[in-house]
Amino acid sequence: MADDHPVLLVTGASRGIGAAVARSAAARGWQVMVNYLSNVAAAEAVVQRIAAAGGKAALVQGDTGTEEGIAAIFAGVDRQFGRLDGLVNNAGVVDSTSRVEDMSRDRLERMFAINVIGKIRCASEAVRRMSIRQGGRGGAIVNISSMAAVLGSAGQYVDYAATKGAVDTFTIGLAREVAAEGIRVNGVRPGIIDTDIHASGGLPDRARDLAPTVPMQRPGTAEEVAGAVLYLLSPEASYVTGTIMNVSGGR
Ligand code: NAP
Repeated sequence: MADDHPVLLVTGASRGIGAAVARSAAARGWQVMVNYLSNVAAAEAVVQRIAAAGGKAALVQGDTGTEEGIAAIFAGVDRQFGRLDGLVNNAGVVDSTSRVEDMSRDRLERMFAINVIGKIRCASEAVRRMSIRQGGRGGAIVNISSMAAVLGSAGQYVDYAATKGAVDTFTIGLAREVAAEGIRVNGVRPGIIDTDIHASGGLPDRARDLAPTVPMQRPGTAEEVAGAVLYLLSPEASYVTGTIMNVSGGR
């Protein structure tokens, strides 16, 4: 693939929604930087699958919940590709199910560090590289939110839902701030998607168990979320900014 293809950074791209976005983006001609936290084998598999399909991808380790991690990720982008045209702010975590009064300060700080501050800081680094006001050539950012932002996740993880509400507000504000600088900023709110995230919260069957509560009567796939993300990144969405798209089967 020619080096003049646009470059997309996907955080948390070793598994789940991020991996599906990375694969779909590569199939549409993006060069993809695959970020991961700890699962190097899964990240390598994503890169190899993209290469096998004729695409171009590289991987970079980095914790989006820390300044050192974010610096390493963007240093990797600069070193590997020397340009940045898109960011999918995907990395996010849940914690074990809990009532609010039992949530510790440490838990809340980790949750907000990764799901909110990490996304704001990654977007900041992307804007520095993409803003035409700062010598860049423009670009697009997609923030991965959740239907939890509007539903609240009572009895499960209200803290997580609150981080996603913050992400939505950030999407609207940043979109307006950089709209005249060639950067579009949008969000996607997945509903119940069949990935590992539910097991990481101690509810491995959550997607299947909640299927009857979804109007479409099934969980979504990571690929279905990726379709929305790729639209928002694409030239077809050239007049779309500050929008948050539900991908939730009607939930
Ligand atoms: P997942 O299957 O648990 O995968 C999480 C990915 O994020 C992995 O690639 C993981 O890397 C990476 N990651 C986790 N913490 C990170 C950190 N601090 N720094 C860098 N990477 C990190 O999750 P998912 O279901 O695909 O969720 C992706 C996004 O969609 C999240 O923002 C989530 O809140 C949102 N979402 C998901 C659902 C759903 O039902 N699945 C619904 C609504 C919203 P390793 O492989 O190295 O651990």
